[in-house]
Amino acid sequence: MQRFKTIYALQQYLAPLIQSARTVGLVPTMGALHEGHLDLVRRARQECDVVVVSIFVNPVQFNNPDDLARYPRTLQQDSEMLEKVGTDVLFFPAITEIYPEPAQLKLSFGELESVMEGAFRPGHFNGVGLVVAKLFHIVQPNLAYFGQKDLQQIAVIRRLIRDLNFPINLIRCDTVRETDGLAMSSRNRNLTDVERGQATSLYEALTLACDLLIEGQSPNQAKAAVTGFFAKLSTFRLEYIEVVNADTLQPVAELQAPGQTAICIAAYLGKVRLIDNRIF
Ligand code: AMP
Repeated sequence: MQRFKTIYALQQYLAPLIQSARTVGLVPTMGALHEGHLDLVRRARQECDVVVVSIFVNPVQFNNPDDLARYPRTLQQDSEMLEKVGTDVLFFPAITEIYPEPAQLKLSFGELESVMEGAFRPGHFNGVGLVVAKLFHIVQPNLAYFGQKDLQQIAVIRRLIRDLNFPINLIRCDTVRETDGLAMSSRNRNLTDVERGQATSLYEALTLACDLLIEGQSPNQAKAAVTGFFAKLSTFRLEYIEVVNADTLQPVAELQAPGQTAICIAAYLGKVRLIDNRIF
């Protein structure tokens, strides 16, 4: 596996490969890797000639300085994991490499960011859009791999690709879960043992909402049931539960076509903010 810290060195390496029409796949991450990330890399490995993984904890997308400070950083371990799953290139730039000066461009995703993560994390998707656009320009991948776990991020990137004419196929990969249902996340490392035991309630809440909708209850009824479920759990602070269209991310009053209804949830467990979703 090749490791590059600078854009120049990375591009020197990639240029002949891109010229000889090799298919390049990019998996952007913030590190502290787990099986969810590795699943994206394995999928890229199957579909691309050259697999590039980036590790960059992007300060611009953090709206909470504590969250940024606490974000786990495990580069050595990440690098070993990536090598084992057949990554060709690891790009791990310093902040000054990506932002030699603060970016002045501000990206707005309209309605897409008026809800959920956009509403609760002001500026988050500006930061995500900026860094992903930079990575797309730097790496020039043919395919880019993102996890369904961050469903709204996928919708935002899809918009970014369309609005800026990036010649890139976005590949959405399923959420990888622990055996008790908890969606894998780098932030899970910040849970205490007791919190980790409780964290499965997030998945239980999604399952409850899913079951109620399938039984014929309305999105509002399902949301009320989940709100009631969390009211009994004193360690959780529910931030939102939404039933939305899986593409537009806008709240819906009734079920959508098959595969188009998404239930999205965000809650604090102690100091750790967890998000998850299910599409059905
Ligand atoms: P992050 O490092 O959290 O920015 O995530 C990098 C990529 O991995 C994003 O596309 C995430 O959606 C994806 N990802 C994170 N957790 C999971 C998971 N449990 N299953 C699948 N993809 C994931």
